[in-house]
Parts: sequence; C-alpha cells; structure tokens
Amino acid sequence: MHVTSCPVCLGANIINILDIPQVPVHCNLLWRDQEAARNAPRADIQLSFCASCGHLFNQKFEPNRTAYGESYENTLDFSPRFSDYSATLARYLVDQYDLNEKEIMEIGSGQGDFLRLICKLGHNHGIGFDPSYVPQGNAREGPEFIREFYGERHRSYSADFIIARHVLEHLDSPREFLSLIRSAIGDRKHARVYVEVPNILYTLRDLGIWDLIFEHPSYFNATSIRYLFEFCGFEILAVKERFKNQFLGVEARPATATEHAPKVDDDSLAMLRDYVEHFARHHVEKIESWHRKFDSLGRKVVVWGAGSKGVTFLNTFSDVAAIEYAIDINPRKAGMFIAGTGQEIVPPKFLQGYRPETIIVMNTNYMAEINQMVQDLDLAPDFLLA
Ligand SMILES: [Zn+2]
Repeated sequence: MHVTSCPVCLGANIINILDIPQVPVHCNLLWRDQEAARNAPRADIQLSFCASCGHLFNQKFEPNRTAYGESYENTLDFSPRFSDYSATLARYLVDQYDLNEKEIMEIGSGQGDFLRLICKLGHNHGIGFDPSYVPQGNAREGPEFIREFYGERHRSYSADFIIARHVLEHLDSPREFLSLIRSAIGDRKHARVYVEVPNILYTLRDLGIWDLIFEHPSYFNATSIRYLFEFCGFEILAVKERFKNQFLGVEARPATATEHAPKVDDDSLAMLRDYVEHFARHHVEKIESWHRKFDSLGRKVVVWGAGSKGVTFLNTFSDVAAIEYAIDINPRKAGMFIAGTGQEIVPPKFLQGYRPETIIVMNTNYMAEINQMVQDLDLAPDFLLA
C-alpha cells in the first residue's frame, strides 16, 4: 500500500520526511492479555510532506487495518485539565454561535460527554455518531446516539451546528468526509461547523515525536486544513490554536461562492518546510538522548499517560527493562496492557505501594494535575517530561 497523492490537495509533489517502521496499528485499543498486547498488529509510518499545500501524512497508511469498536478507548475526560478545556470550549461555542434550543450533531462523539455538555448549556437537542459508543443508563434523557460511522446514509439528519473533534486525522479521505458534510448541509446557509484536530505545527515546533501514530494518516496544520475546508465548499471563520497549541479548532460556514480554488500562502509553505526539515534532523537525536537518559536512570521508572503518546514512547524504547508500568487515570484502562510492549496499565493509587523513583510524564499539559496527585499519594519521585 502506498498513498501516491496528497489526501488534501491531491498533489503529487511529495517529500518523504522520515520512516518509522512497525509501530502498533492501534494505540487506543485495550488489550486484556499481556501476550496478546505484545503481539498486537503492526504497520509502517512514512511521514511525508506535500510541497503544494503543506499537509503532512503517512504515505504507508492502510485504511482497512484500523478499527474503532467498543474496545477502542481514547476518552480524555477523566483528566480535570482536559475537562476544563472541553467545558471552556463548549461555553465558547454556545456563546459565539448562539447555540440555544438548536439541533447539534456531533460526529465521532465518543461516549458523548462533550455533546451532553453543549446540549445542557443551551437546552439543545443533540445527535451523536460513534461506533465505539457504549449505551448508558438513562438513555431517554439527553442526546440520541447512533452507534455507526457517519456516512452517506445519514445525510438526511439535519443540524444547525455540526461538530467533529479528532475525527479528520483518522480518515484516509478527509476530503470525502468534509464534502459529505457540506452536501448534507445543502442550502441551509445558517449552519456552522466546528472541527478540531491535533496541530502538527506543535509537534514540529516542540519535537513532539510521540505524536506520530498509525491511527493518524493525516497531520493538519492551519495552512492545510484551511485548504481542505475551502476546497470542500466552506468559508473559514476562524482557525485557532487550542489546548496550549496542541490542537487546531476550525470554525466554518458554507461558502456562498460556487467556485472553490483555494490559494496557499507561499510564506506559510516556506515556514512549514523549515519546521519539517528541523523535525526530521532532530527526530533521531531526541531518541538517542533518551537512550542516554535511560542508562543513567535507576529502577522503578513509570510512564504517566497510556494514550497515544505513552504507547508510542514505550514502543520506541521497548528494550528498556526499567519501565514496568504505565499509569492512567482512566479507570477503563486499569488492568489492561500496552499494545506492542505489554506493560500493565495501573491507576495512580497503585504507585503508593510501588513507589517509583522516576515518573516520565507524556504530556506537559497534565503536569500540574499529575504533580498534585503524586503529592497526595505522599510520593516524591523525580519527574521527566517526554
Ligand atoms: Zn497537498
């Protein structure tokens, strides 16, 4: 399998940046068995840069390898830091777009927390689409959930506001998806859209090399996502860096023009190219410097964060025996095992008995809440930021 044209602009002027062979196909599938976790399926990443629109993507992505069923778990809502972020975003969208007694549709709604919040804040009616949704107790109250991928057959559902957070980067054809949303909106020009994706510029700038995962065929930046939206018949209202620059939030409405020929700003392209070259140069160096760090660390090292970043980090250093556990505050992950390397995922309170010497924190945004939890457990380990 080889993607030969850019998934955003369809251009063929593609530059290979780096290869990361044999990573776990899924970082967020839960494994109940350690041996099965170690034998989790693997696939290749070939990170590539489109010189025409500035998009980054995995040229070796294979769409039929990924699956998002009930055992797919990527909820971040157990973190107070992330809940605060979601609540602030929900409040902003309700105020900015007067979402009161409106129809809200969320695609990729997960377990529905964000949709419930938006519906509650503005007495809105919600409908969520997600195959990984697990039905909960009082289903008669609140939004309705459809346990399917949003597709052609759902275009009759209409909404005043359409949300898709952390969906686009998982799709092999984000163009098809966004075009479908645009065509489902039709001539309802009052409809507004909010889409959120990881911000690859953050990854490039801050050398967040653990953000590259097989589940993400696409890595958007403000330039490439703007191109995509304009191409698919939307007018951009805002593209904002959110969650301390780790995400991009796109606010858009249907465009009035019928011709959609997006233009790419040359300065932005040149800047992206510089960042990409910087990233490629420092990728290997960062891994080597961690190997040196591990040599000087003692025993009892744990990784805090068993999401994408943690799984990628652990798989990069699969030969480091000192890391026996991964910590995660999501209770659904407790007792499960890390794909590829098989460390057990344990809740924070486990550390009280284990008493780690070093905690490697995967995401700087959670540093304050992790520090607090560790103090509450009466521990004083060294912290390292991945
Ligand atoms: Zn492109």
